[in-house]
Amino acid sequence: MDELCDRLRAATSVLALTGAGISAESGLPTFRGTGGLWRTHRVEELASPQGFARDPRLVWAWYNERNAAHRRAEPNAGHYALAALEQRISDFTLATQNVDSLHMRAGSRRLLELHGSLRTARCTGCEQRRPLDSLGLPEDAIEHACGGYLRPDIVWFGEPLPSAVWERAVEAASRAEVIVVVGTSAVVYPAAALATHYAGDAFVAEINPEPTAISERVDCLLRGTAAEVLPRIVETFDRG
Ligand code: NAD
Repeated sequence: MDELCDRLRAATSVLALTGAGISAESGLPTFRGTGGLWRTHRVEELASPQGFARDPRLVWAWYNERNAAHRRAEPNAGHYALAALEQRISDFTLATQNVDSLHMRAGSRRLLELHGSLRTARCTGCEQRRPLDSLGLPEDAIEHACGGYLRPDIVWFGEPLPSAVWERAVEAASRAEVIVVVGTSAVVYPAAALATHYAGDAFVAEINPEPTAISERVDCLLRGTAAEVLPRIVETFDRG
């Protein structure tokens, strides 16, 4: 903890990379952990372009439920701590794999949503976007006027990341002196590569209660939950 905070204080450029685990303490299930969404749902039916082509109504029913759960949830102390770090570090970037908007609601502004968000739907035909509210997308709106289908505005398995967002994330990883990885199993690529392949000689710290695919390669492991450990980092940072 002390070494990480010394390095954060000395750093000009910092990247934080987050995954589903940071929202676990807000009551949102992760994908792969205990109680994770992939244990109870079939990925290929719900989170792939093929699944959507097969049954867009089923896919929307699931994402409408998830969207409602995101909006009922509140950011936790981990989300707020990352927003606080952004205020203290001149070049701070937060890249998240989450689509729940909790970082934005906690006040993070230098935010790259690598996998999109459920704030909007996007047309498969004309790419037009439509904002979603807490009710999500009604069934009678799935077919768009242009002949395409409105789909969740997120990145599904097998799809490329939006190139502008990805390029900014790679640049942030390449110039970062410290990379803090929170609540991700680090098995979904290319996002995980930000903390490995693109990390250069940055000091990489991992915050996670469980070992992950990158635990053996990082410089510093803080075993604990995001809402416990991240506020302690801000406190230690401020104590100088
Ligand atoms: P994952 O489910 O693969 O891994 C979650 C990780 O979080 C695990 O390593 C687990 O040990 C850790 N974790 C669990 N509780 C934690 C806590 N309280 N504090 C810190 N860490 C904790 O999730 P991932 O790596 O983000 O997988 C990537 C995919 O999951 C992305 O595509 C993302 O879009 C999607 N996802 C997003 C949400 C969301 O938006 N809230 C929810 C589920 C999945």
